[in-house]
Amino acid sequence: MNLQKKIDDVERRVIAACQRSGRIRDEIHIVAVTKYTSLEMTEAVLQSGCLHIGESRWQDAKPKWDALGSLGRWHFIGHLQTNKVKDIINKFQYIHSLDRLSLAKELDRKAREKNIQVKCFIQVNVSGESSKFGLAPAELISFAEKLVSFSHLEVLGLMTMAPYEAPDQQIRQIFSDLRRLKDDLNEKSIFNYKIPHLSMGMSNDFEIAIEEGATWIRLGSVIVGENEE
Ligand SMILES: *Cc1c(COP(=O)(O)O)cnc(C)c1O
Repeated sequence: MNLQKKIDDVERRVIAACQRSGRIRDEIHIVAVTKYTSLEMTEAVLQSGCLHIGESRWQDAKPKWDALGSLGRWHFIGHLQTNKVKDIINKFQYIHSLDRLSLAKELDRKAREKNIQVKCFIQVNVSGESSKFGLAPAELISFAEKLVSFSHLEVLGLMTMAPYEAPDQQIRQIFSDLRRLKDDLNEKSIFNYKIPHLSMGMSNDFEIAIEEGATWIRLGSVIVGENEE
């Protein structure tokens, strides 16, 4: 399948998931995850109209960002080391992996120097897998309360990853738990605005994520993979 056909196919599946769950297509934003692909493929993705590009390591992203940076909006979706913040600040407009206070401090400090706001998602390890980064759900409220004082971070919402292979019902539960955690933050008025977003859903589970309230889905293989059937 060529790229445009894959993108069209994803679009049909997004629309169908919206229809099943009574949602509006415009509420769902797609990040095209290009972390495994070449500069040429990333350029083709941008040219096909996918504006939002996701990368998980600065070393891999750098050549693409250097060539194409101004053409897209860049999302850092991987684990972010504090000493890499200086490299990505001012380049990646969105951070999906805010998972600890030391990172929040450094992002806020560097953003202040540049006089910018950084859009962040707090990563929550809902599934509890030891291989995954993110705050435990029980730590979320107190972490969010601490973020309020960082004036250069704009918290957009929460992010999670479901287990790669799990029954649909378990994946659905993880996504609905993340939605409940967001609702809880908003009910407790932790921020002085309602956080609007949920970054959840990947190639193998984005339809479930949409049905459970995702507003950002992060799609790699289904868009840029070699052999999607
Ligand atoms: C790689 C990655 C994705 C995309 O994965 P696919 O299964 O290829 O869609 C999404 N989110 C994060 C955090 C990733 O690391």
